[in-house]
Amino acid sequence: MIRQKTISKNVSIKGIGLHSGETVKLTLKPGKPDTGIVFVRKNKKRNCEIKVNPFVVSDTKLCSTLKKDEFKIMTVEHIMSALYACAIDNVVIEVLGTEIPILDGSSNPFIYLIQSAIPVEQDVDKKFIRIKKALKFEVDGKFAMLEPYEGFKIDFSIEFPHPVFANRNNQIVIDLYKDSYFDEIARARTFGFMQEVEFLRSNGLAKGGSLDNAIVMDEYKIINNDRLRYEDEFVRHKVLDAIGDLYLGGHPIIGKFTAFKSGHEINNQLLRLLMNDKSAYEIINIDQDQTIFDQVNIHNQKLENNFNEVMV
Ligand SMILES: [Zn+2]
Repeated sequence: MIRQKTISKNVSIKGIGLHSGETVKLTLKPGKPDTGIVFVRKNKKRNCEIKVNPFVVSDTKLCSTLKKDEFKIMTVEHIMSALYACAIDNVVIEVLGTEIPILDGSSNPFIYLIQSAIPVEQDVDKKFIRIKKALKFEVDGKFAMLEPYEGFKIDFSIEFPHPVFANRNNQIVIDLYKDSYFDEIARARTFGFMQEVEFLRSNGLAKGGSLDNAIVMDEYKIINNDRLRYEDEFVRHKVLDAIGDLYLGGHPIIGKFTAFKSGHEINNQLLRLLMNDKSAYEIINIDQDQTIFDQVNIHNQKLENNFNEVMV
């Protein structure tokens, strides 16, 4: 039986918000079994707890934003992706600010943060969302779909009318129970276009964006001096985002996710479609299916090895 996991101690990190430009302090704290991932927005007057689920996502134009009452927390997708990768089920994330820090634009720094808090098993069975029926959300020629599959496979394609994407691999297929998130996905950074950045800045957004936390392109080329971390870093980052967006469902998905030019909005709409259709999924413990049990065990073994490598 696969057990739920949390972290064994508090850890904090400070960084700037990509859109707000403000310095944010983030503290991860252990969570009790079956309490899930809970963001706590702290301010002078009171604290607001937001437990993740697809329906608290309020704005997806540039990032995934959670909202409850007058409180909001922007850019949750990268830390959610890291929590998925580290198999964390229960954690409290205290945020002093309105946005999760962007750090280097990937999920890698969050993985180090989680690992430094030493993940531990809890005495309760882990739950998974198993897809039972194919569902698709499509708009303006872009789509995302979920369908039954014994594992967690992602098939993601992007398309941009820009010279940087010509002659580049713009599609990736990855099975998260077989391939390593840490090797294949974790280091892929956010990207954007100079013209877009100028427009966003004039609207008070992307204030914290810089070449230290994003790959930026002008009309013709990448303007960062450092090399790409993967030849197809762009599509890999879209996978990183999608994993984080889907983990807002509260449990890991067992199924296949296929996306064409999808982003936070479409990912979230698909997840809402799923959660609103009880015949499309079931919540299971993993020993109910031996094939997946074997895959998840291999995945967990890889996680242990990876932690050990980092911690020595
Ligand atoms: Zn992202």
